[in-house]
Amino acid sequence: MLTITDLHKSFETADAPMPVLRGVDMEIATGECVALTGESGSGKSTLLHLVAALDTFDRGSITLDGQEFSGMGDTARANLRRTRIGVIFQQFNLIPSLSVGDNLSFHARLSDRYDAAWQAELTERLGLSELVHRWPEQLSGGQQQRVAVGRAIAARPALVLADEPTGNLDEATGSAVMDLLLDLVAETQATLLMVTHSGALAARLNRRIHLRHGRVAEVAAA
Ligand code: ATP
Ligand code: MG
Repeated sequence: MLTITDLHKSFETADAPMPVLRGVDMEIATGECVALTGESGSGKSTLLHLVAALDTFDRGSITLDGQEFSGMGDTARANLRRTRIGVIFQQFNLIPSLSVGDNLSFHARLSDRYDAAWQAELTERLGLSELVHRWPEQLSGGQQQRVAVGRAIAARPALVLADEPTGNLDEATGSAVMDLLLDLVAETQATLLMVTHSGALAARLNRRIHLRHGRVAEVAAA
């Protein structure tokens, strides 16, 4: 269960702090797949960053299965990201100096939930068997995003966060990446929170949460 309560975040600007999240509340059940929608600038990526434990917040609380993020030090946050949370970005964000295979196992390699059999299955399911020795720059966008999906899911995290994961892909490629992502999320019983501008993608999930000006404006069946 992911619980977000009265979450506030502002960014410093030249004149005054600019509030971006202004009291976000939501509860997402384990295994639920939720689309996060909202106009550009409504705070979707900012929220995802906080839930990914990539940044700290000003006020409120985020808990994942009872574990409170607020007050956590850098090491605890890094540990949480490595073991319990997988993140997929629009820009793929693979590590250019690591092979496809090493990118795939980057977060999971120390986890006891990652072993040779799961690595082999994941590689094959993602259609990456022929590509494990390549460098990210030698892959198409769709191939890079399949690696990113694998990297996010490899440690079987409780929570998968995706920020417009198909935003840089054509429709057919994006839809194939989504199929893989949704299958793997279901199979590993992860919870998914995904930012998307696409109504068609949102419709494939369980529920839609709409942000407006840094608050939850609407919750709807997807
Ligand atoms: P989009 O759909 O365009 O991706 P979004 O809903 O993801 O939009 P955010 O990226 O969360 O929006 O940004 C919300 C607001 O916070 C914007 O006004 C943005 O300029 C501001 N913002 C985001 N990150 C920072 C930062 N690091 N420093 C200052 N302002 C920021
Ligand atoms: Mg964004």
